[in-house]
Amino acid sequence: MPYIPTIGLEIHAELKTKTKMFCDSLNDPLERRPNVNICPICTGHPGTLPVINRVAVESIIRVGMALGGDLPVISKFDRKNYFYPDIPKAYQISQYDLPLVFGGILNGVRLTRVHLEEDTARLQHADGGDSAKKSERRVSLVDFNRAGVPLMELVTEPDIKNADEAVSFAKELQLLLRYLGVSDADMEKGQMRVEANVSIHPDFPGSPLGTKVEVKNINSFKAVHGAIQYELKRQAEVLDSGKKVVQETRGWDDVDQVTVSQRVKESAHDYRYFPEPDLPPLDLGKIDLKALKISLPELPWEKRARFLKEFGLSAVETESLIQDRRAAQFFEEAFSEFKLEHRTPGSREIKLLINYLNTDLRGLLAEKESNWDDSKISPEHFADLIVLISENKITSRSAKDILRRMSETGLDPHAILATEGLEQVSDAEVLRGMAMGIIAAHPQPVADFKKGKENALQFLVGKAMAELKGKGNPAVLQKVFRELLG
Ligand SMILES: [Zn+2]
Repeated sequence: MPYIPTIGLEIHAELKTKTKMFCDSLNDPLERRPNVNICPICTGHPGTLPVINRVAVESIIRVGMALGGDLPVISKFDRKNYFYPDIPKAYQISQYDLPLVFGGILNGVRLTRVHLEEDTARLQHADGGDSAKKSERRVSLVDFNRAGVPLMELVTEPDIKNADEAVSFAKELQLLLRYLGVSDADMEKGQMRVEANVSIHPDFPGSPLGTKVEVKNINSFKAVHGAIQYELKRQAEVLDSGKKVVQETRGWDDVDQVTVSQRVKESAHDYRYFPEPDLPPLDLGKIDLKALKISLPELPWEKRARFLKEFGLSAVETESLIQDRRAAQFFEEAFSEFKLEHRTPGSREIKLLINYLNTDLRGLLAEKESNWDDSKISPEHFADLIVLISENKITSRSAKDILRRMSETGLDPHAILATEGLEQVSDAEVLRGMAMGIIAAHPQPVADFKKGKENALQFLVGKAMAELKGKGNPAVLQKVFRELLG
């Protein structure tokens, strides 16, 4: 029987603040030594009091504004009570009925809410102790560096219909968080964590929604896709066999590519939420919302639409820039150096610019392990190089050499041409003289070409190019050979 999937996501992202959510301890995800960035507040000592991190609150408000969500007049924090070694106070400060953001939309998926909470400590399960029995040596270590790190939680409505849509949504959110500078949102580093609520119901009118299964432990975009695909298939098989789907939490096993039952799902009342008595309600009227709105950068989807229109690039080319804001900035700065007639959407110069940026320039940066900021190639010089290529003054082979010299010296391409003579040889007289020599030295390919073998011509052109160290104009060379042999 065919089923209709209903998928909602809950996404957590660690905010990139200097200090933690409720104390002055450093929020440093790169710290490798355990229990360094801790204090009595984030380790839950009795008698300590939390203080709200303003930057964290502002970050969530900016996310909410970017997503078109509604901001309440008053927001507040609540205690979510549960016992586990990763939560030293035995409650997590989170938000229950008055989150910072209600609603909003991303990629056509409606959002329920975005709220702010604190992260838990990190548990590490290890083989320790001195018992001979392995089961007795198992220990769990707690690293409180992450405890109290500001955490955004975003919850979607169950609008998502398949695994691809879920991945696109998560990727676009990651991009937004990076554009806003509020989180690095690297899934592999645990800075962004996705949970999927998946259910299916039979495809007939009036069929009620199915039982919801929550899938956790999803640590990559590939895992988002795999976990949802697997869960849809598993639930269909359960229903097909006449059984009922159990409401539970399942974990994604990345090795076996399956979801595994972890526990029966708690509901909200199990956590005994109540207002955090140690913190005042958040009065958003006291926050300069106008300034936060102005601080929003051009958003990914805005930039995408503008780039498609202004430059006439393909969707794939556009995306290569949207996904890398520094590359996009470099592209725009180089483009702005072009003469007006080269700035028509889809012009030859724009096409050359994106191609050389994505292949040669990116390749060079990767090879030198440098990035856009410490590269010696300026957008102005890069634009000059593109114009030289477009005007056939240099070959693509010379362009590579010049680009390499530019990255070493920081010089503009004209200066490099003047000193190193890499200018393209297009003079037909010069090329004809050389071609005659090559024809005399290679009678067999010449004979082959005269019998109609086109490859033989390429061989002869190649010989000429080798003598010219790649500086010959290939089109002129072809023409010259054809004339001489024709
Ligand atoms: Zn602390």
